[in-house]
Amino acid sequence: MQNIQHLASRAAKTGKLYNLDHFHIAWQNPGLRRLMGNELLFPPSPQVIQAVEEAIPLLNYYAEDPGTAAELRAALASYIGVEESPAWITLGNGSMEIIDMIPRAFLDPGDEVLLPCPEYSPYTRRPLLFGAEIVDVLPSLDDFTYQPEDFTRRISRRTKMVIITRPNAPVGNMVTRQLIETLLAYPLIVLVDEAYTEFSRQTVCDLLPQHPNLIVSRTFSKAMGLAGIRLGFAAAQPGTIEWIERVRVPLNVGLITQVAALAALKDADYIRACTDKVIAARNDFIGRMRQINGLRVYPSEGNSVLINCGESGKPAAVFVQRLQAAGYLVRDQSNSRGLPGDGFFRVTVGTQADMDAVADIIRATVLD
Ligand code: PMP
Repeated sequence: MQNIQHLASRAAKTGKLYNLDHFHIAWQNPGLRRLMGNELLFPPSPQVIQAVEEAIPLLNYYAEDPGTAAELRAALASYIGVEESPAWITLGNGSMEIIDMIPRAFLDPGDEVLLPCPEYSPYTRRPLLFGAEIVDVLPSLDDFTYQPEDFTRRISRRTKMVIITRPNAPVGNMVTRQLIETLLAYPLIVLVDEAYTEFSRQTVCDLLPQHPNLIVSRTFSKAMGLAGIRLGFAAAQPGTIEWIERVRVPLNVGLITQVAALAALKDADYIRACTDKVIAARNDFIGRMRQINGLRVYPSEGNSVLINCGESGKPAAVFVQRLQAAGYLVRDQSNSRGLPGDGFFRVTVGTQADMDAVADIIRATVLD
């Protein structure tokens, strides 16, 4: 085979293949409960299913381009509480695509991006493709909290962007709103990923009208229960959205996705009911885990719980294997960025029954 390495772009040479084996394992083993990917463990609302069924006969047509999909974009603006106008929203094929579009719109070679450590992993990768560099912002390792100076003292003349997931992933805790406001006073793009916002019931979207440098990213993959449709969106002032729109791939959001999203937004009661259940199960699970000696359980405002089992004398892999053998697929986070050692694993919050069973297995594994 001819070697074409010399033809590969700098971006391709910088990029690495992304490991999504946890989804592969889940799809290959449909009997396992999927507590590994922070999906919603409840099915989509009946109204979404009906709207999708009605759209199926139209699949021979292109959907509206997100650039003109005014109804969905205005509905999203209304959902996040800014002026009900499409101009405040741009759409992505999952918020994973937003993670690509924003660096593409704002980063040049040599720019620096401040990124908490740990953070959601694609943020460590996409900025590099545009020649930017990641500057790690380290928390207090004891509880993964940050002071404003942890960020501000790393701002240099090259700093262009700061990215903060709130609630965070994989930890689940939140930086303060005041920290975001401090960062907004600097001439930087401040990207706040609110993928898990419906589980924390806190947002910084109300700051958008005062700050052209604030971008908030959201997704339909978590509380909305629609990870399979791939819809993410970014909210910002119209002038900021226009820069992102310039680099968006045309027709990047499909017909079924648009129809399902509109139907989901109209069924707000269903979203509320699902998130109520997840929040109750999460808080109950955290309470129970805290009673077990040998486990460190971190606060979470999202739909997952991070546990460090290091002091139990067993590595995370033992817990992950025991849970998988019992039908629960969770995520081993050992030695991932910002999570040193072999003791970290993360459990997505499913139904109360899921969490009861998982709590029992974890307790038995510690005591073994
Ligand atoms: N941001 C965060 C913080 C996430 O945890 C995830 C998914 N795990 C995403 C973005 C991506 O979600 P999606 O592409 O499905 O919208």
